[in-house]
Formats: sequence, structure tokens, C-alpha cells
Amino acid sequence: MKIFNTLTRKKEEFVPIEENKVSMYVCGPTVYNYIHIGNARPMICFDTVRRYFEYKGYEVNYVSNFTDVDDKIIKAANEEGVSSEEIAERFIKECKKDMEGMNIKPATTHPQATKEIDGMIDMIQNLIDKGYAYKVEDGTVYFRTRSFKPYGKLSHKNLDDLQAGHRDIKVTGDLKEDDFDFVLWKPKKEGEPFWESPWCNGRPGWHIECSVMSKRYLGDTIDIHAGGEDLIFPHHENEIAQSEASNGKEFARYWMHNAFLNIDGVKMSKSLGNFKTVRGISEMYDLQVLRFFMLNAHYRSPLNFSADLMEAAKAGLERIKTAAEKLASVKTEGEMTAEEKTLFDESQNFVTKFENSMDDDFNTADAIAAIFEFVKFINSNVSSDSTKAFADALNKRLHTLTDVLGLIIDKEEEILDSDIEALIEERQNARKAKDFARADEIRNELLSRGIVLEDTREGVKWKRA
Ligand code: AMP
Ligand code: ZN
Repeated sequence: MKIFNTLTRKKEEFVPIEENKVSMYVCGPTVYNYIHIGNARPMICFDTVRRYFEYKGYEVNYVSNFTDVDDKIIKAANEEGVSSEEIAERFIKECKKDMEGMNIKPATTHPQATKEIDGMIDMIQNLIDKGYAYKVEDGTVYFRTRSFKPYGKLSHKNLDDLQAGHRDIKVTGDLKEDDFDFVLWKPKKEGEPFWESPWCNGRPGWHIECSVMSKRYLGDTIDIHAGGEDLIFPHHENEIAQSEASNGKEFARYWMHNAFLNIDGVKMSKSLGNFKTVRGISEMYDLQVLRFFMLNAHYRSPLNFSADLMEAAKAGLERIKTAAEKLASVKTEGEMTAEEKTLFDESQNFVTKFENSMDDDFNTADAIAAIFEFVKFINSNVSSDSTKAFADALNKRLHTLTDVLGLIIDKEEEILDSDIEALIEERQNARKAKDFARADEIRNELLSRGIVLEDTREGVKWKRA
């Protein structure tokens, strides 16, 4: 099994630290809003990596954090006049709903930064004791970047070249010894959440969170650390510096980074107004379509989101679902015929092709091509005269492959108009009784079955997504 390692810029054979086990840390979202479809890319890609390891018999310890203290969260909280905690808890909940819709397995552990402050204080103190960090007058603690000699090894940057070119990486604060030093702990400002520490009442810097949560749940050295490519520098570079300086051990053996998702060829950003949330997409498509769309590209290739490509993904997924439906409809009892047995053995080729693609740095695009060849094979070799034994065996094989990709291919029975209307009425009654939790639950239940509600002046309207 080969993985492209950002550290060496090479595809390397995967050798786990402990036989048959994988420890994996994936940087998760900052929870100040609904997640956008860019955030969904690492979630889908690395969930698929996890699923493939599990398929191969590995036990995966998968840790993915929520960054729940951050300037953006504080800003959102102040705008709404609520606490940061309320914002973070709300959007963690919403994020988990989106993850469920995309069939992303919950992590073994989903740590939250605000619940790990003690560990951060310990690591920062340890870095100060070892001379890798220092406190300045206002209570800020900085990492002394130049004291960590291998700094730059992940991003392949050299501090002296950076000094000449980039002034923009400078972090504000006049008190630090060097431009490249970064914050480990910062003093609180008015109206911000804070914790007590030996240096000042304040809060941690972003990078220290991941070093500490990775160590706590996975140990000093882990197999894989992953995230979007924007995190390579400075976030992951800084994580390496903190962890390796503090623990005296290699931090992560393989570094995996997904490329970016753009929209209609342009970078997705709030200011351009081309920002799409997963929740918004769920009102137009089953989120399985979004997952399938993402996996149609290799995780290291930039991916463009467009209505046309989503329609193509929808049609592609439908073809696979139709094949599964056809297999499930075969009813002829009896044992597989000799000819069917030969055909079934032949279909192992698609599994081999699928595995070869996934073994090659998780090439999901080629793995999906193998599934499509399998679908074509099913369409040409299965008819209502086939035995149920043959159809079931093929269907099981097809499901094994689609499960690795986290795709749900069984068609859900369509919900009847009368049932939708009954649920809408129940929701109206719940609202009248001020039972908003139940009202939301009904709305979400309908949404998960592809029904979108719109509250208008004339009453509630609904449509099928
Ligand atoms: P953030 O909430 O910005 O810290 O991002 C959470 C995760 O989403 C990180 O792994 C980012 O690298 C990733 N990410 C953010 N935007 C995009 C994008 N447009 N395409 C792919 N990954 C992204
Ligand atoms: Zn991180």
C-alpha cells in the first residue's frame, strides 16, 4: 500500500508503527458556522482512507478535533450576543448532522480544544523548560522557531529564504525575539473566553491544540497526520516543531494533504459570495451525491465544484444504484449454474482492480472506474433468468466495494405525499405548543429523506430535493 508523503514528497510503502494498527489524526473544522463543502473534502477523503484500512484488516484509531476557541467563533458570538461556547456547541452539533448525511463515520475520538487546556499548559511549560519557548512582558508565550533546527522540513521551506521573500507571515506582536516565533499562549482581551495559566489569563494558540490532542489520544508518534493542503504551512510545520521539541520523538510518519475544492473555477470565499455549505447542498441533492462527486477525483488533485459535475455525479451514482436494484430483484431459486460460477470468479478482477487503485495512494477515481466496469458486467450478465444465488453473491461483492467508499447504494423507498403532509402537520402543532426541538427534528427527518420545507406566508410548502 503506497501513500504520498508530503514530508518526503514521494509515494512510500505504508509501514505501520504497530502491526495491523493505524493511528491517524485529521485536523477538523473551526466551528463558527455550518461547514462548507471545502471542509467536507478532507472529511470525505480521510474517512475513505480509514474505511480502506479497515477493509484491509487494520484497526484504526481515528482522531479528529473541533477547534472551538478562535477569533471567528468569538466574533460570531459577539454578533449574536451569546457565548462562544453556545456558538461552538451549536455548530459541532450541526457539523455532526452533516457528517452523518455524508456517511462519515464518527471519529474514535472528537476532542475539543477547550476541554484540553491542561494538556496545553503542560506542553507549553515543558517547551519553556527546554528553552524552546519564552514568555514576554504582556504574558504571551512564543515558540522560539529558530531553536528547532529541522523547522521547514514538511513545507520544504528554509527560514532564511522566507525572511528574504515573505514578510506576511509575521504574527502581530512587537515583543517577540524573532519574526518567525509563533504564539503558544496569548493574554485575554475584553469579552473573550479565557483560562488561568502560569503566564497570564488567556487562551492557547491554534497550533498547540493539535499537538496536544494528538499526543493525548494517539501518543507521541503517530502513523498519519492529515488535513487540507493550506495547513502544511504554517499549521502543520508548527505542530511538528512543538511536538518534536517537546517529546523528543518523531511526530507523524506520513503526512497526507488533500488539494482544494474550488467553485466554478474560482476559489471559494465568503467575500466572493460563492460560499456553499453542506447544508445548502443537502437541500438540492442527497449528500451521497456530494460524497460520490468528491471521490471521483484523486484527493491530491484540485477539484472544481459545478452544477454540471454534480449532475454527472448524480447520474453516475444512479447507475450503480440501478445495478444493485436489478440484482436484488432476481428471484429464481436454486444453486449457481456452472456458467454463473465462472462469471462470478471472473468478477474478482474488478475487486483486484479496485484494490490496486486504492493501494496506489488511494486513487478513488480509478477505484470508481473499476466499479463502473463491474456495473457494466452486471448489466450484461444478469437477467431475470439468473439464479438468486448468483445475483446475491454479485450484490454482496458490489456492496463491499461501495462500502469502502462510504457510498450507500440501496434506494430508499420513496416517502408518500400523505406521510409528508402528516409530518408537516405534526410539526405545525409542535411549533404551536412551542416544542421547537420536535419541530426541528421533523424538519431534519424530512430533509434526510430528501424533502425540503419552506415556510411561506401562505403556509408550509415542500418539495423533493
Ligand atoms: P478550517 O475550518 O478552515 O480550519 O478547515 C477545516 C479543514 O478543511 C482543514 O483541513 C482545511 O484544510 C480544509 N479546507 C478548508 N477549505 C477547503 C477547500 N476549499 N478545499 C479543501 N479543503 C478545505
Ligand atoms: Zn491541526
